[in-house]
Amino acid sequence: MTATRICTVDACTDEHAAKGYCQKHYARWRRTGDPEGTYTAPIPTNQLHYLRNLVGLPAEGPTNDMLQRWLDQENDDTRLAEAS
Ligand SMILES: [Zn+2]
Repeated sequence: MTATRICTVDACTDEHAAKGYCQKHYARWRRTGDPEGTYTAPIPTNQLHYLRNLVGLPAEGPTNDMLQRWLDQENDDTRLAEAS
């Protein structure tokens, strides 16, 4: 009897798929080089304002750098899409 291999990422109990990771973490590892890295999808500005309002933050504030990162990421994605 062989035990089912599971993902090597802590707190992940998904079935092993490749390279020690489950499908989800393997895909993330291939994409970002870090199986535990969290990929933040770009958030549209109007949606960001809505979310910030939802948690009681002003529309503008200390997370502008986060927004800038999202925008940079969006630009990267656009460039990649154009390059392919
Ligand atoms: Zn996993």
